[in-house]
Amino acid sequence: MGMYKESIDFAREADREDTLSEFRGRFWFPELNGKEARYFTGNSLGLQPKAVEKYLQEELEDWKKWGVEGHFHSRRPWFAYHEFFSESLSRIVGCAPPECVAMGSLTANLHLLLVSFYRPTKQRFKIICEQKPFPSDTYAFHSQARFHGFDPAEAIVELKPREGEYLLHTEDILRTIEEHKDELALVCLGGVNYFTGQLFDMQAVTEAAHRAGAFAGFDLAHAAGNVELKLHDWDVDFACWCSYKYLNSGPGGVAGIYVHERFSRKTDIPRFEGWWGYEPESRFRMEGPFVPMEGAGAWQLSNAPVFTMACHRASLDVFDEAGMSALRAKSRKLTGYLEFLLKKIIEEKGPQSLRIITPEDPEQRGCQLSLIFPGKGKEVFDAVTEAGIIADWREPNVMRVAPVPLYNRFEDVFAFAEVLKNQL
Ligand SMILES: *Cc1c(COP(=O)(O)O)cnc(C)c1O
Repeated sequence: MGMYKESIDFAREADREDTLSEFRGRFWFPELNGKEARYFTGNSLGLQPKAVEKYLQEELEDWKKWGVEGHFHSRRPWFAYHEFFSESLSRIVGCAPPECVAMGSLTANLHLLLVSFYRPTKQRFKIICEQKPFPSDTYAFHSQARFHGFDPAEAIVELKPREGEYLLHTEDILRTIEEHKDELALVCLGGVNYFTGQLFDMQAVTEAAHRAGAFAGFDLAHAAGNVELKLHDWDVDFACWCSYKYLNSGPGGVAGIYVHERFSRKTDIPRFEGWWGYEPESRFRMEGPFVPMEGAGAWQLSNAPVFTMACHRASLDVFDEAGMSALRAKSRKLTGYLEFLLKKIIEEKGPQSLRIITPEDPEQRGCQLSLIFPGKGKEVFDAVTEAGIIADWREPNVMRVAPVPLYNRFEDVFAFAEVLKNQL
């Protein structure tokens, strides 16, 4: 905290010293009131990398030029297009390249993974999840429980914050796992909770789930590209994520999954199968029983959606250049600066003006801070928008602000805090 100063000069100096500052120029910024917006919603929809146009254009040209032959002769042959992502994604989620694959969409992938990793029996049928995960995840868990003939009211165990609190204590999560251990099939949490911005201790949760004889999986929609992940070393069984939030790959863009290598080529776990998960060498013989390819790729159903993948490729090239550890280091400083300025507001205006519900410990959060304005409502958010800042409002009373290290500046954070101060 001591290193920060509440001044625009400090913010500009920090931007000048930022070794990642040039990456900002690689993205398109939307306009608000005729001016380039200050964009704090990379947690919802990441900005468009300028290279997307070129990457898309190449695929359009190759389709035009080659027709079906593009599967093998285009610059990036479509037949193996999904393979162009494994290295980059493996660095982002922390695994070996075959353990991850770009495919499908997030909620559909979650269902596909639940087919394999939620196999309830009369004795073991419970899923432990957050009380308020992203709604789509709730629907997935509930409908999976019903699909297997269980009542969600019994099968789904929600982790609730303590009375009057917003966050979960790791010890409470671990205790809940222990309490349900004889009936537990699966623990499935968000890596970072979308509402509070809390980053969970995925390693400790995975260990506890395994001790209880259950699988551990994570929805990394708010974690991938935001925090450093080590899925393989943490021994996580499976994970899924989308690419349009921190991974900047465009609305509805191709998602991704991770499956630990111990499940590679296993034929004794149920899997909803499709031809693209079939061993590539013999895929086109199109005969005989399903032969799963190595790794997470076996969960693929359909051939690669090349156009959304072209956007993804453009974005992941930027991540490869910047590197997750450098991004995370800047992210800590940038979000730390936002927190510092917000605490100054609280000092000046009193504890009733503003509350930060995201954890104070940088190890327990990514770049997002979630704010509450006791006694005030959406008018604060509307004033922020009026000032040319794009943030996010969640009913009933939370403003989410995500300074993204790839394209946000210390100056943006300073400007946001100034606007907010005048409203409180
Ligand atoms: C954004 C988000 C989703 C969205 O799911 P889609 O299938 O991509 O529409 C689901 N779960 C979580 C945790 C999210 O943050």
